[in-house]
Formats: sequence, C-alpha cells, structure tokens
Amino acid sequence: MDCNRVQKLISLYLAGDLSGEDLEALMAHLASCPKCRAAFEEAKRYEAALKGVFKETVSKSRSPKSRVLRRIKDEGPRRRPGKSLTNWFIFILFMAALCFLIIVAYVSYEKFKLENIEKSLAARQQLIPVLRALREYHGDCGAYPVGGNIDMVRALQSKSEGQQPYYTFRLEDLSEGRFIDPWRQPYIYRSTGEAALLYSTGPNRRDDSGLPDDIRP
Ligand SMILES: [Zn+2]
Repeated sequence: MDCNRVQKLISLYLAGDLSGEDLEALMAHLASCPKCRAAFEEAKRYEAALKGVFKETVSKSRSPKSRVLRRIKDEGPRRRPGKSLTNWFIFILFMAALCFLIIVAYVSYEKFKLENIEKSLAARQQLIPVLRALREYHGDCGAYPVGGNIDMVRALQSKSEGQQPYYTFRLEDLSEGRFIDPWRQPYIYRSTGEAALLYSTGPNRRDDSGLPDDIRP
C-alpha cells in the first residue's frame, strides 16, 4: 500500500468510517511505516485538540451564568416570592393596626358622646328645682336676684326671719360660692331683675350665649 492512500484511510478512520479490510490494511501499514505512523499520531492529536475546543465552547454556552443571563433576557425580571411575602405581611400588619386605631377612636368617641348625654340630662335635673326657686323668689320679691351666678346663689340660700331659704344647694353643686354644672363649669346666670337667664355652657365648656350646645332647662 502506498503512503498517499494511507493518508486518505487515516482521514476515514478519524471520521469513524473505516472498517473491515481497509482498517486491517491501514494498521498493517502503520506498523511497518514510521512516516505514516507519525502522520497518524499527529492527525489524532489534532483531532483530539479540535474536539477539546468544541467541548469547551459547548460547555461554556451552557454554564449556569449564561443560563441565568438568557433567562433574564427571555423573561425579564422575576419577583422573588420571599420578598413579596414580607411585603404582604407588613401590609396586613399595617391594616390591622389601622383597624385597631379606628375601633379605639370610635369607641372613645361613643363613650364621650354617651357621657355628654348623661351629663346633659344631669344638668337639666340640676336646673329644674333652681328655676322653681327663682320663680318663687320672683313671686315674692317682684324681681329675680340681680347680678351673676354668685349673687343668685346667695339670694336663693339667704333666710329672711322665720322663713326657709328658697333653695339650698347641694355641696357638690357649688364651687367657690357658684352653682356649677356636671362639667364642673359655673352655670351662666344673668339678670337685671325683670328677666333672668340661666344655662350651662354644655360639653364644650364655652358660653355660646345659649346656643348650640349650651343647656337651657
Ligand atoms: Zn507509509
């Protein structure tokens, strides 16, 4: 077999297309021809080197990093489930706190309203006997006690000889000689004698001249 033909067989062998008699003939020639054996070894090394480069390229293109990059390109940013769960938890906690505050505010407001209703009723209860006494005083004297709150208290509590006072105030209804309402504010009393005004400044503790939350009997 001549060496030129062996070169062709070597190519076929490396391509995996050599078998049978041709393969035996090639092996026999390589065993006896150092030149072709050297060429064969050289071709095998070259082939192996090529395969190595190919493998490296393939494995690089399938590395985890390139897979991640490809996924980011293909799908865009993905939400991390852990983080969105934390956000949900914070949101739910915030809503629970908000609900709690609304309930506390509502209950306090209702309690405040109820207290004021009770105190308004108590104020009317306080005023009824005092007004009756003032009318009695007016009937006897032809005029209401002149002046302010202190003057009214003094006039109704004073005794003329042999007579009961027009009204005796309970100690808890008085403060520094003045008739006070359930909010611990002095009642407003104004009189020039002919006419008299008596009212509570009500829940806002402010004299609104009898309106709108001020309490008249
Ligand atoms: Zn040869």
